[in-house]
Amino acid sequence: MAGKEPWQLELERVITRRSELERILGLTDDEKKSITALRQSYPLKITRHYLSLIDPANPYDPLRKIVVPSGEELAHRPGERDDDVHEDEARFQPCPGIIHRYPGKLLLVPTLACPAHCRFCFRKGHKVKHLSHDEGERALDYIRENHGIRDVIITGGEPMILTDEELHYWLSSIRAIPHVELIRITTRTPIYLPSRFTDSLVRMLAEHNPLFVTISFVHPREITPEVERALKAMSDAGIVLLQQGPILRGVNDDSSVLMELYQRLAALRVLPYYAIWGIRTPGAEHFLVDGQTASELVGALENKTSGFCVPHLITIARGDKVRMMGWSPEKESLHLETVERGAPAVPATYDRRSETHHS
Ligand code: SF4
Repeated sequence: MAGKEPWQLELERVITRRSELERILGLTDDEKKSITALRQSYPLKITRHYLSLIDPANPYDPLRKIVVPSGEELAHRPGERDDDVHEDEARFQPCPGIIHRYPGKLLLVPTLACPAHCRFCFRKGHKVKHLSHDEGERALDYIRENHGIRDVIITGGEPMILTDEELHYWLSSIRAIPHVELIRITTRTPIYLPSRFTDSLVRMLAEHNPLFVTISFVHPREITPEVERALKAMSDAGIVLLQQGPILRGVNDDSSVLMELYQRLAALRVLPYYAIWGIRTPGAEHFLVDGQTASELVGALENKTSGFCVPHLITIARGDKVRMMGWSPEKESLHLETVERGAPAVPATYDRRSETHHS
């Protein structure tokens, strides 16, 4: 049997122990307490590549906030529970591995594992799970039998930490469905584990072109030479790269940081597509900026850079995806426009044998 690839060995060496992180980075009392308190619900997990980007001398380093737990994560709004986001998504899951919220497209979630744990993640705390072969076939059947689905987004967790063979299985199975026109993969793996983007992976991905890979950068310091190499390899292979990341308080809530991020990405052929604002997540409330601030941050880029370096600012409101068109100082309100209307929740289970839906 062939040995493990360097990226797989790197994955086995991710930092999960408080003592090790403390030795490398030094930890505040608050961080130490939070790592222990969150050990079960959303544990510490950082790749060595990402850790090497954090300045140990700066406790306020934005990259540190992305991966090191803090006491703010333990705070919840009255009545809020860790499961709120999961329960909302569960309303749109006809079978394991499928989230079908919008007409015409759906999310396929083959794994909930990630190479690192982003402290802002809205799927934080989902139980880590890979779909079994049977569950995978059932999810594919759901796509095969729903002829209105033209856009499949493979997400997670992190699909890019599956093996080349597993990814090929998913991509070729979806590509064989005649009514599916677009396949996207959403990921932060190029940022956490750029060594994952081997020549063989990129060659295999390109076999399934047109393929869209959407990456969630949050700060320009995440763009290292290793990351640039991974992005270039994918672009050169004809894969379309898009940026879709959140605006986070204390990380990138500064228009000069956003401008640098989007301009550098555009120069690397990663087009800024969406900036996401206002997704309420239990234990990540401290990352939220208010709507006026988000609108002003992105608005400040208009006329200062190329049009395609300015992403659409979007959020989810009452189940619909909405684009923020600006802040009205007279009315003191946001001007929102619906981009995609959420479908009614789909039945809770889906049985391919009888081709019936059960609630
Ligand atoms: S890599 Fe993506 S899915 Fe995983 S924790 Fe980060 S944001 Fe969440």
